[in-house]
Amino acid sequence: MAGDRIAGFRSKSGSLISIYASRPSPGGFPALLSELTRSVRDRSADLDRSAEKSARNDCERIRALADRFEAEVAPAYAVFASEQDGLFEVQPLGHPTADVSMLGPRPYMRPLRAAPRLMRGALLIADRQNARLFVSRDGFVEELGGGFEADIGSRRFGGFAGYEEQSVRARADEAAARLWREAGDMLLAAHMDRRFDYLAVGCHEPDADEIAGNLHPYLSRLQRVVFSATPQKVSAQSLRAKVMSIEGDLRHARQSALAGRVCDTGWSGGNAVLGLAAVLEAANTQAIDTLVVAGPFSRPGSLCDECGHLSRTGESCPVCGHQMFDVDDIVAAAMDATVAAGGNVSQIEVATPLDVEGVGALTRFPVGV
Ligand SMILES: [Zn+2]
Repeated sequence: MAGDRIAGFRSKSGSLISIYASRPSPGGFPALLSELTRSVRDRSADLDRSAEKSARNDCERIRALADRFEAEVAPAYAVFASEQDGLFEVQPLGHPTADVSMLGPRPYMRPLRAAPRLMRGALLIADRQNARLFVSRDGFVEELGGGFEADIGSRRFGGFAGYEEQSVRARADEAAARLWREAGDMLLAAHMDRRFDYLAVGCHEPDADEIAGNLHPYLSRLQRVVFSATPQKVSAQSLRAKVMSIEGDLRHARQSALAGRVCDTGWSGGNAVLGLAAVLEAANTQAIDTLVVAGPFSRPGSLCDECGHLSRTGESCPVCGHQMFDVDDIVAAAMDATVAAGGNVSQIEVATPLDVEGVGALTRFPVGV
């Protein structure tokens, strides 16, 4: 992933600029980039002469990107630059982000780390006669296969009227079950190829359990969403808004559960820490398994670029004695440290009990504070 490579960028003198800019209304990039680079230029006055010059030159170069950004289509861009470290990297982003500019020894990764995780979803749209399959991937929806039709047969049985009606219905049920299983087999193959995060069943809602009951257990055990739809009336295009809303709801439910788990574990004395001071301590001891941040919560702090030590305040590093850098967002530095140590980070977009603490983490072992 590109983010891993960028996370390794360093500037010893603290002249590394990170800028995130979301597409403004047409013609707005020149003003936006001017504004974002202005605050970097102001802050660069605190650096040594050569670092300040490097940052000023980079600001010019970044402002000159406005025409290119206007002409292209990406919803947002990230730029990382430090002339004196031989670095100038422009990354188109798939999602809008907050407009932000930072200056420091390390790249500001938080907007990348906070981006919504992409999902892969299976969509089975079916009634008793027809079934269609769609796969959503990274926000795009495409149809899988050309659709399925139940083979009801046309043979009429002789015999009593009642018996005949019963047998016709039984054959229709059998044909529907076969139809769903057949469609399910194709979905299963796609699932084995690359795992789905959820299964959405679009149907006449009372049929949902019966449809799911005819699928392979791998599919029927996936987190399931049911919505009202008929196979004749859907298209990849028309399902896109539905998929966005399904994935938004799933993401929020998972975030809410995760934040609740961190709080419950912390409050009950388990392997979790709550609050910024405890999280920084846990990050410094590489104890964090999963770092969870409540929305935009951030605080300034200090970072030792030499050994990576994080603290709320400090001139020199208590571990290695080097001069520490002031950073505007020490939470972002804790996210970087967590990922570097093999842990996960999650930024919560919904209100949860974690809002009171700002930040918390599940830890691999108990952390004394
Ligand atoms: Zn240090």
